[in-house]
Amino acid sequence: MSAASVLIVGGGIIGLSSAFEAASRGFAVTVLERGEFGGQASGAAAGMLAPYSENGEGPDAFFRLCLESLRLYPEWVSRVEYASGRKVEWLRTGSLHAALHEADLLPLRTREAWQRRFGAVEYADGDALRGLEPALHGRAIAALYCPEESHVHAPKLVSALEQACRNLGVRLVPRAGEVAALDADGQGVRVATSAAGAYAADAAVWCAGAWSGTHEALLGIPVPVHPIRGQICAYETPPVDVRHMVFSSQAYWVRKADGSLVCGASEDVSGFDRSVTDAGIGRLVRWSGRMFPSLAGTVPDRRWAGLRPATLDGWPLLGPLPGRSRIFAATGHYRNGILLSPVTAAAVGEWLGEGGGSAPARLAPFAPDRFVRLGNAEAAR
Ligand SMILES: Cc1cc2nc3c(=O)[nH]c(=O)nc-3n(C[C@H](O)[C@H](O)[C@H](O)COP(=O)(O)OP(=O)(O)OC[C@H]3O[C@@H](n4cnc5c(N)ncnc54)[C@H](O)[C@@H]3O)c2cc1C
Repeated sequence: MSAASVLIVGGGIIGLSSAFEAASRGFAVTVLERGEFGGQASGAAAGMLAPYSENGEGPDAFFRLCLESLRLYPEWVSRVEYASGRKVEWLRTGSLHAALHEADLLPLRTREAWQRRFGAVEYADGDALRGLEPALHGRAIAALYCPEESHVHAPKLVSALEQACRNLGVRLVPRAGEVAALDADGQGVRVATSAAGAYAADAAVWCAGAWSGTHEALLGIPVPVHPIRGQICAYETPPVDVRHMVFSSQAYWVRKADGSLVCGASEDVSGFDRSVTDAGIGRLVRWSGRMFPSLAGTVPDRRWAGLRPATLDGWPLLGPLPGRSRIFAATGHYRNGILLSPVTAAAVGEWLGEGGGSAPARLAPFAPDRFVRLGNAEAAR
């Protein structure tokens, strides 16, 4: 098929990144957003770009995708900043993944052993650890230091992408309401919205985040995406100097360019409820005092929550839908949608550039029909 125009459903970081990439390649792009651009998970995120810290198990396809995306960031940031005229506060601080117990040291050493093959990863303890992060409590006995990991200001990246899209002539449609009808055939894709009329294009990209699972009937395949709430808080003027992103088994801390310290995040099942609870934030506050003694007793100034789009296996859905190859699924990015936005945009761009149809081969592990195939295999047993 050939494609010159594309509809994007969902205006979070994944939809806007896909739109930016498609528009940069000369496609006529329309983004349909049910509410406000960046108003959901993407605007709530801590903005960490941490493939090593987020993947402790082994060098699987997901780790490689995350690492590829991290390495796209320098060019991605300069493209977005140039096209938007805005800064996204990308800071290459490096990270420390701290161990508090002797029993955690072996997993840390195991991670170090395999992750060293992919980049600079160092085991730090004693004076080396204190030198890196002097404010850390003495109960942190060792850490993995990943100098390559970095972070952005997620809301600023999203709004820069929105502005970049606008500057490139993308038609941005906020408050479009729900998708009331979807029709796709060999000729193209047509979407009717409940609040902003109907749209047609040669191809579509589905980026509805945690709500993607509610679109199964429209899309015609099982879409096992469900919301996992993340509660998170920030200290505006913290009485502590945290130099790196710091991870523990219970929480993480990241100091932003304006000096504020973000601490996240819970993982709880609450349906589509985005409210913040005392229990959720209380745990983060307790752990803040445990990891950084000078934070003990300090009350965070801001607290908020967002809904991560989780899949059954924790990996995103990336690729055209079976039987509806003009619709590309780009959803289910769970804990790593900010990190994975450049690689997702690149995949969408490659797919469109090839005229749609099949996905780039390296996306095979993330095929949207993998759960259908699994279900069929189990039924045949
Ligand atoms: C507290 C928290 C901290 C996080 N920290 C990080 C981090 O440090 N690093 C990282 O990489 N990731 C992080 N994440 C994960 C990251 O935020 C998500 O993976 C990412 O934002 C997903 O982007 P998205 O565009 O798919 O979803 P969203 O941002 O949720 O966007 C989906 C959009 O689709 C719209 N939509 C839904 N249904 C429809 C419809 N029918 N029609 C039109 N539009 C529709 C929604 O309104 C929404 O705006 C964090 C998440 C949370 C909650």
